[in-house]
Amino acid sequence: MTELQSPLDHQRTSPPSSGVSGISICGVTKNFGSLSVLEDVSLEIEPGSFVALLGPSGCGKTTLLRIVAGLEHPSDGVIRIGNETVVDTAKRIDVPSNKRRLGMVFQSYALWPHMTVEQNIAYPLRKQGVPRSEWPARVASAIASVGLPALLDRRPSQLSGGQQQRVAIARAIAARPRVLLLDEPLSNLDASLRDQLRRELRMIHDREGITTILVTHDQEEAAMLADLVAVVRDGGIVQVGSPSDILDRPADQQVASFVGYGN
Ligand code: ADP
Repeated sequence: MTELQSPLDHQRTSPPSSGVSGISICGVTKNFGSLSVLEDVSLEIEPGSFVALLGPSGCGKTTLLRIVAGLEHPSDGVIRIGNETVVDTAKRIDVPSNKRRLGMVFQSYALWPHMTVEQNIAYPLRKQGVPRSEWPARVASAIASVGLPALLDRRPSQLSGGQQQRVAIARAIAARPRVLLLDEPLSNLDASLRDQLRRELRMIHDREGITTILVTHDQEEAAMLADLVAVVRDGGIVQVGSPSDILDRPADQQVASFVGYGN
């Protein structure tokens, strides 16, 4: 039997910064042609919280995250980040992804191979219009957060998988996003590195206070990292609660099986 780990004591060491935003997802539906992938999904995410979208492969988690990111467009629904409506299908509002001030880290590291680590982290700052004089301090602080200050001059091909994923995290947080979106960011790493990076991700979250959404199919990862878990099944959210709520009071037998109680 797999068991959810006890949630860590998620104490924030500093209050969320003023740039941190909550997210409101209201009635989001997504069809790909005749395939219904999300059906009337709603979720409220508090500023500064760490939320896991947990569910088996193919249930629609990534699609929901991509809709929040602006990489996919819902068939119906409204999404607000802080006070800004970024999507409202009825009002034909759809703010482009690069204007949503989000940080994203995906399963594949997606670093630019021809750039050094420093250039990779600085690139979004340039795109954002951050003054060049601020880049060195922002890059140094982000790379220190992930523990890689000696590697600034390397290219991605000279880094291990774990180091590349740390650089991807540094690149996402250097831009001081309102929200950090993580799509199975650790699933390509071996088990011990994954465990270490989970702890680091949670520490970074507590330090920076950025509202974070993690997509994962791994219930241990959700329990270890998240304050709030939204269990996704067949294109809908079937339960929302703290990791211990979901472990102690699963909404139904399928959720119970998924989080580890077996049959
Ligand atoms: P998960 O992240 O939970 O594994 P996804 O959101 O990636 O699930 O996919 C949900 C469903 O939507 C799957 O059946 C997948 O094949 C389908 N899907 C995802 N993206 C597309 C697309 N661009 N076109 C058609 N079907 C898609």
